[in-house]
Amino acid sequence: MPHGPGDVLDLIRHGRAQTRGDVVRMTGLSRMTISQRLADLLASGMIVEGGTTEATGGRRRRSLAFNNSQSRALVAAVDTTHTRIAVTDLAGAVIADDEIEAPVHDGPSSVLDRIAACMAAVLERSGTQPSDLCGSGISLPGPVDPATGRPSQPPILPGWDGYPVIEHLQAGLSGVPVLVANDADAAALGEHAAGYAGTTSLCLVKVSTGIGTGIVINGQSYTGVDGGAGDIGHVRVSSRQDALCQCGGRGCLAAVASGRAVARELTALGVSAAAGHDVGALLRAGNADAARLTQQAGRRIGEVMATVVCLLNPEVVLIGGDLASAPLLSGIREALYRLSLPRATRHMTLQLGSLGEDATVAGLTRLVVDHEFSAEAVNRKLRS
Ligand SMILES: [Zn+2]
Repeated sequence: MPHGPGDVLDLIRHGRAQTRGDVVRMTGLSRMTISQRLADLLASGMIVEGGTTEATGGRRRRSLAFNNSQSRALVAAVDTTHTRIAVTDLAGAVIADDEIEAPVHDGPSSVLDRIAACMAAVLERSGTQPSDLCGSGISLPGPVDPATGRPSQPPILPGWDGYPVIEHLQAGLSGVPVLVANDADAAALGEHAAGYAGTTSLCLVKVSTGIGTGIVINGQSYTGVDGGAGDIGHVRVSSRQDALCQCGGRGCLAAVASGRAVARELTALGVSAAAGHDVGALLRAGNADAARLTQQAGRRIGEVMATVVCLLNPEVVLIGGDLASAPLLSGIREALYRLSLPRATRHMTLQLGSLGEDATVAGLTRLVVDHEFSAEAVNRKLRS
């Protein structure tokens, strides 16, 4: 395998090599070649030598690290009623952000125009020029075709199927690369990067207005051939064949256990709620009906998750989204452990995600960085 500068950067960026000595050991390249590679990476600003030195066997070594402030990322996390927009450093730390109301049922053209306007404002407020960006990422609450970056028959995004999201946003960003991801996939990547980097298999169940699962295997998002992997919201659950879902089907999990379903049940009780966002606010305010109905939704989600867990035998299962809360976790836990074989859950950690709504933002940054600083991309950049 050729060890170009991009391959050396990959070792440093993933924390596998922290000194020149590590790079020598891991690549088998000569010290002279490695000096050249590191000089190229240092000159391009992609890595920095640490100010701190460590003494090993009497020799002082300077540590090497990926330069998280060499450029910035611009990300947008779209949910059914709101979109959060942020400028981040390359580690995913938020430099400036804003949230706008933009119901997805207004259609992609209008929603993306509003997002583009907010992006421009957040860029300006953070003193960021489009030329300071290494890339941009946007997440959608629906499946995204991995080949084209376009929404792929999204059940809760009416009018978005096949829409050219990348082209729409790129027009206002001076050609900065734009990536599109499913929101649960992005949140799973964000949590993985922040707290579970050593974990080989992680799932994040996002329960907001809809329900979706992001899967990270060996540090990579697993999206499936059409971007539909983990879209568990439209699995039929036998107990409620009559419940009509937004996808047009009947008896879907999302029809009985999503934030939208809980909001409808709350409204019937006289508590006003329209979407996952509202249910989340009621849960935080300690509303007892919201807590009881969310726990009940959790039991139904846990029934479907038992199949997911048997299929993947994951090390970590996290719960995220607007409804992520103690009642949701307890409902999922109850059904999941009751219905799974002990072997499938023996070494599994099930808990709430630790980043909350920052998970999607961190995951989108990670996606942009993985794309722009992959070994191949960096070898191409530094060769030209
Ligand atoms: Zn459905």
